[in-house]
Amino acid sequence: MLAKRDGWKPYQGQDWQQASAYDRDVDAGGAVGLADCYARAHAADGVTIVVTNSDDDPTRVDFTIQDRIANAWADRHGSLDGGTWEACDGEDFVYDSTYWHDDLFAELRKEGFRFDFSQYGEPDEHDLDVMRHACDCDECQGDYHAGEEHLSKLENEACATGD
Ligand SMILES: [Zn+2]
Repeated sequence: MLAKRDGWKPYQGQDWQQASAYDRDVDAGGAVGLADCYARAHAADGVTIVVTNSDDDPTRVDFTIQDRIANAWADRHGSLDGGTWEACDGEDFVYDSTYWHDDLFAELRKEGFRFDFSQYGEPDEHDLDVMRHACDCDECQGDYHAGEEHLSKLENEACATGD
């Protein structure tokens, strides 16, 4: 067991000396690392949730957690927006996805989650028009790609007939 030392701070990913002491302690099943893991698994902001979306469908929002306690945290806190956290393999990676809506991040921020938005771009008005069309259209049936093509076709037709 690692002796409790003055000045010990939980691992924050900045100080490699502390990080490696922490990692060694966790790997060895040490008390400091395990206590920290336990506390983080129970805290809403105990892990960083990376938010991504893509040009393919900017209204689809993906969440991933890469952390040694990812699975444990997901078990504690449940889905973000009615989805399900999925694990690929192992304990340290989970993902979830949902569709953009007006209140999505306002609601999630209230829960106290910690997000990394560095790989995320808010959908713009055009993206949202496509999404609304796709959801309302019997032909497109919620498919963003189909919606994008159909909407521009409708716009072209409207132009051609002078509507
Ligand atoms: Zn359509």
